[in-house]
Amino acid sequence: MSIPDNSRKTRLGALSAALVAAGPVPPPEVLDRAITPDDVRAFPAYFITGPGRERASATLCAHGYTLISSCPGCDAAADR
Ligand SMILES: [Zn+2]
Repeated sequence: MSIPDNSRKTRLGALSAALVAAGPVPPPEVLDRAITPDDVRAFPAYFITGPGRERASATLCAHGYTLISSCPGCDAAADR
């Protein structure tokens, strides 16, 4: 006997499916402050292709690039 899977038939189920598809979601303490290049690196699925993309594209790093652009300065800092 199996339990019918109706997770995609509810609004919450659809939202959960979308979140899982987008990948890990940053915790509230990250979303409540100004986001940084490190946040985008830590949650690329959310900030590059997910719901955070608009915010990341409107935020500039210390070198003047948007957070969805690859920035030589931030890449160098991340390699250190
Ligand atoms: Zn930068």
